[in-house]
Amino acid sequence: MAKKQFKAESKRLLEMMINSIYSQKEIFLRELISNASDAIDKIYYKALTDDTLRFDKDHYFIKIEVDKENRLLTIKDTGIGMSKEDLETNLGTIAKSGSLAFKKENEAKDGHDIIGQFGVGFYSAFMVADVVTVYSKALGSEEGYKWESKGADGYSIVPFDKEEVGTEIVLKIKENNEDETFDEYLEEYRLKGIIKKYSDFIRYPIKMQVSDRKLKEGSDNEFEEVIEEQTINSMVPIWRKNKSELSSEDYENFYNEKHFGFDKPIKHIHISVDGAIRYNAILYIPEKMPFDYYTKEFEKGLELYSNGVLIMEKCSDLLPDHFSFVKGMVDSEDLSLNISREILQHDKQLKLIAKNINKKIKSELLSLLKDDREKYEEFYKSFGRQLKYGVYSDFGSNKETLQDLLLFYSSKEKKLVSLDEYVSRMPEDQKYIYYASGESYERIERLPQTELVSDKGYEILYFIDEIDEFAIRMLMNYKEKDFKSVSSGDLGIDADDNKEQSEEINNENKDLLEYMKKVLSSKVKDVRVSKRLKSHPVCLTTEGEISIEMEKILKAMPNNNDNVKADKVLEINPNHEVFQSIKKAFETDKAKVDLFTSLLYNQALLIEGLPLEDPVEFTNDICKVMV
Ligand code: ADP
Ligand code: MG
Repeated sequence: MAKKQFKAESKRLLEMMINSIYSQKEIFLRELISNASDAIDKIYYKALTDDTLRFDKDHYFIKIEVDKENRLLTIKDTGIGMSKEDLETNLGTIAKSGSLAFKKENEAKDGHDIIGQFGVGFYSAFMVADVVTVYSKALGSEEGYKWESKGADGYSIVPFDKEEVGTEIVLKIKENNEDETFDEYLEEYRLKGIIKKYSDFIRYPIKMQVSDRKLKEGSDNEFEEVIEEQTINSMVPIWRKNKSELSSEDYENFYNEKHFGFDKPIKHIHISVDGAIRYNAILYIPEKMPFDYYTKEFEKGLELYSNGVLIMEKCSDLLPDHFSFVKGMVDSEDLSLNISREILQHDKQLKLIAKNINKKIKSELLSLLKDDREKYEEFYKSFGRQLKYGVYSDFGSNKETLQDLLLFYSSKEKKLVSLDEYVSRMPEDQKYIYYASGESYERIERLPQTELVSDKGYEILYFIDEIDEFAIRMLMNYKEKDFKSVSSGDLGIDADDNKEQSEEINNENKDLLEYMKKVLSSKVKDVRVSKRLKSHPVCLTTEGEISIEMEKILKAMPNNNDNVKADKVLEINPNHEVFQSIKKAFETDKAKVDLFTSLLYNQALLIEGLPLEDPVEFTNDICKVMV
C-alpha cells in the first residue's frame, strides 16, 4: 500500500492549522458532526430531485461510539459517503472544500445550504488524534474505501468492505501529555456536553450509548445502571419554528436553558428575515440587571450560529453598546462555520445583521413603551442608565436612535415621562425644556431655582442620575426645543416687566452687589438680584458650559483635577427681608455685610449639596449672628 503525500502546501497548512486555528480543541467534534450532517443533507437533497431515491427519515442519523480501552472515538453517519476520488480530493487536499463545490453546483436551486466553506474543518481531528481512519462508501458505488492518516506525513487509501452507504471516522485519541489531557474526549459526559454546546440543533439525531441510573423494575427504591442509546441533541431549534407554534413559556424556557439570566425576561423578540441576508434570531430584554452589568467584567454579545451550529458564544459585534443588555442568539445560513473572530469583524453580512437587530430592538422598545408602560418602566429602572450613556457616548452619534426611549421624572406628573410627552404638552409661550439636577427628587423639589419656572406653570424634568445632564448636553434639543437648566443664567422666561424691574433693582444696588462680589472674591463670578426667587433668600446659578452638578461629578472622578469649576453666580431675592437688612447694614456697618454675605454664600452652597470650604468659620459666623 503506497503512502500518498499531502500536497506540499496542504502539508504546511495542516501543521499550522493543528496548532493554531482553533484555540479550543473540543470543536473537532463540532466539525466532524457538521460534516456528517452536511453529508446527510446532500443525500436528502438528492432525494428531492431523484425519484429512485427515497428519503426515509429514520434511516438518517449520526452516531458517536467510544472504545475507551483502545482510545477510539468513532463518528458514524448515514450520509452520501465518499468515493475513492472524493477521499482523494476532499481529504487529501486542504482548502479544497467539497461542500463549497457542491454549493456552487447547486446554487441555482435554492433552499439548501451546507455549512463550511473553507475546507479546514476535517483536519481539526488531528488536534486530538494521532491516527484518523475514514471508512466510506459513496451513494451509488459498489465499493467502500479506507482512508488513513497519521497527520502531516501523508495518507493511504485501500478498498474496504463496507456494507452501508455512509462514512465512519475513527479517531485514535492522543495519550495525555504534560500540558494536555485527551482522556476527556473518551468520557461520555464530556462528549455529551460538547454535543449539547455546539451541535444541539443539528437537524438529524446524534445518537450515543449512555449510562443512566434507573429504577429497577418492580422496585421503587432500588436503582440499576442501564446503558442505552440516546439522542443527545434536541434537533429542532426554537428559532426555526413558526412563531405561531410557540408560547411565551417556550421562549422563557429557552431563556433559562441558555442561562441568559435568572430573571424572567420582560420581552422576547423573534426575528426571521428572508431577504438579501437570511437569519433567525431570538432576542430578550431582561428584566433585572445582571449583578456585574455596570462593571468592566460584563461582556455583551449574542450567541452566533451558522446554520444551527454554534460558532461563537458572545459575538459582541452584533450588539451596539447602548443595547448591551440584550440577550439571545442569531443563526444565519449565510455565515461560514470556519470563520475567525478577525474575519467576522469585517464580515459584511454580520454588519447587516447587526444593523437590522439594532433597529428591531429600538422599535420593540418603543412599542413596549407605548403599549405596556408599566413593563417599560420596569425595564427602564434596570437599563435606562445604559440608554443615557448611549446618548452621550460616541459623540452623540446614536442620539437619534435613543432619544425617544428616554424617560425622566416630571415635576408636574410626579412620575417618569418621555420627552415626546413633555414637548407635546408645552404651553405655547414656553421656549425651553426645563430641567433641574440634584441628588434626589425630594431635594430638587425644594431647590429655590425651580421657583420661577414652577410658578410659570412649566414642567421641570428632574435629573438624579450622574449621566443625565451630560446626555442632555449631547442631545442639545428635542423636536427643536432646547434644553435649559433652571440654574442657568438666562431662563428665557419673558416676564418682561419683571426683567426691567430686576434690572432697575440691580442698578439701584450696584454698589452693594459690587461690594459683596469683592467679599466673595474668586468664589463667584457675579452677585446679582434674582428674578427667579420667590420665597428663598438666595441661590446659586451658573453661566457657561459646566453646571454645578457636572462640577460635582467631574470632581468625584479619579484623576480629576480641581480646575473644572462651574462659573457660579450668587443670586439674591430682592423681596426677601434678608436683603433689606443687608441694604441697611451696607450704609452703617460693613463688617455686618461681610458676615451676611459669607453666610448667604455658604447657605447657597448647602442648598446645592456642595461642601462648605470652611465649616468651622461657617458655624462661628452663625454664632456671631446669635449673640
Ligand atoms: P468543509 O466541511 O468546510 O467542506 P471539511 O474539511 O470539513 O471542509 O471537509 C472537507 C470535505 O470532505 C467536505 O466538504 C466533504 O466533501 C468531505 N467530507 C468530510 N466529512 C464527510 C462525511 N462524513 N461524509 C461525506 N463527505 C465528507
Ligand atoms: Mg466541514
